[in-house]
Amino acid sequence: MSFTLAIVGRPNVGKSTLFNRLVGKKLALVDDQPGVTRDLREGEARLGDLRFTVIDTAGLEDATDNSLEGRMRRLTERAVDMADICMFMIDARTGVTPTDELFADILRRKSAHVILVANKAEGNAAEAGVLEAYSLGLGEPLRLSGEHGEGMPDLYSVLMPLAEKFESEAVDHSPVTDVVLDEEIGEDEVESIPEPTDAKPLQVAVVGRPNAGKSTLINKILGEDRLLTGPEAGITRDAISLRMNWNGVPMRVFDTAGMRKKAKVQEKLEKLSVSDGLRAVKFAEVVVVLLDADIPFEQQDLRIADLAEREGRSVVVAVNKWDIEDNKQEKLRDLKEAFGRLLPQLRGAPLVTVSAKTGKGLDRLHDAIMRAYRVWNRRVPTAALNRWLVGMLEQHPPPAPQGKRIKLRYMTQAKSRPPGFVVMCSHPDKLPESYTRYLVNGLREDFDMPGTPIRLYMRGQG
Ligand code: GDP
Ligand code: GDP
Repeated sequence: MSFTLAIVGRPNVGKSTLFNRLVGKKLALVDDQPGVTRDLREGEARLGDLRFTVIDTAGLEDATDNSLEGRMRRLTERAVDMADICMFMIDARTGVTPTDELFADILRRKSAHVILVANKAEGNAAEAGVLEAYSLGLGEPLRLSGEHGEGMPDLYSVLMPLAEKFESEAVDHSPVTDVVLDEEIGEDEVESIPEPTDAKPLQVAVVGRPNAGKSTLINKILGEDRLLTGPEAGITRDAISLRMNWNGVPMRVFDTAGMRKKAKVQEKLEKLSVSDGLRAVKFAEVVVVLLDADIPFEQQDLRIADLAEREGRSVVVAVNKWDIEDNKQEKLRDLKEAFGRLLPQLRGAPLVTVSAKTGKGLDRLHDAIMRAYRVWNRRVPTAALNRWLVGMLEQHPPPAPQGKRIKLRYMTQAKSRPPGFVVMCSHPDKLPESYTRYLVNGLREDFDMPGTPIRLYMRGQG
């Protein structure tokens, strides 16, 4: 099993150059003129021991052409539909442009796996552009120089866990757009949630700022001192994965060193630990965001929780060091309030208080992880979904731009892990995002799917 990677981004950011490097032949033309390569181009890529299909979307012409946006959108969407993973490339020397923002927008909505790449990052001229890239809301940018081949090991370390993931999910990752649409309404799928086994343990990442207590927590679960812990920030440098059998459930747990701001940090080790944290998130099925009760919801915690949501992971928030909290009740109230305000995208995700030191609350954490995992794997029967859709439409009909009501006709769950739904829609481009949000929130409430990301795809009907 291999995967397909699409390289998308506005003209001239260096897509074809990287494509050439990955494919190893001069399959794609490179030129200083934007858009020399027409349309989509496919090649077999090699990177270390990885083999995958790469799609180059360098088919866009003059950026001043005002029909560009439409063409760009179509081409990008086509590539996204074809690919398992999207690499979104920006030119770090130019910085983020409005066109980049447009792309980011499409990708945030359409693609389950986006790797943000800041290209042309060799030398210092790219620093500002790399920082700007954070503003796209697609997580940490990966610094790359396609021309000089710099950053390829980082690219490898991001792709490798995804490759493994697609391998282990071979049945599940078919593109959402290939939904069988003539499937009979009323045919209810049987709900079956794969239980973790020794061969396929539940993948859990424990993430959080340095000193939150990640190592202590994992030690406690393991019941032995296998990891180093100490008062010094970030004593564990690398991501470590450990096999364990926690309350009878086979698990593979990633302990990550603290994820510090990559931006300010030059030191090689630091860079490594940041990408390890990201790797752990991309690899995990359930992400435990471990907060220090004393300093909860710091910028870094929020970023990683948001990343986990965007990566489609289910999230459990654990508040650690509860043993030294005096005013527990008041504190809990504050935490819940802050959680709802700062992480609205994780509505309903469980919040568990624990003490890694004493072991108190660990059983509840275990239960929360299992519940999150099950919700993430949920499948809602098609008949139930369509009955539900009718009710939602009656309660709050979609808008009617230019007097023509947008019709939502049929709905089915196309995937799980996280739950993804497809709705057939007469004018998907005209449906406001607020309406999609209304449906997503409704799904979450009515089908009891708290805390998991929910993807909703609108499909036009030719
Ligand atoms: P595309 O339109 O996105 O496919 O971009 P190309 O691959 O055709 O590259 C556009 C221009 O950027 C060419 O002149 C490349 O030589 C240059 N370029 C590509 N990658 C890099 C890089 O990593 N660093 C620098 N400085 N230039 C690059
Ligand atoms: P990491 O950097 O996230 O792996 O954090 P560590 O596990 O190394 O813990 C950092 C510090 O916090 C250590 O001094 C731990 O003893 C302490 N610590 C961890 N968990 C708890 C807890 O539940 N209660 C208290 N009081 N201290 C804790």
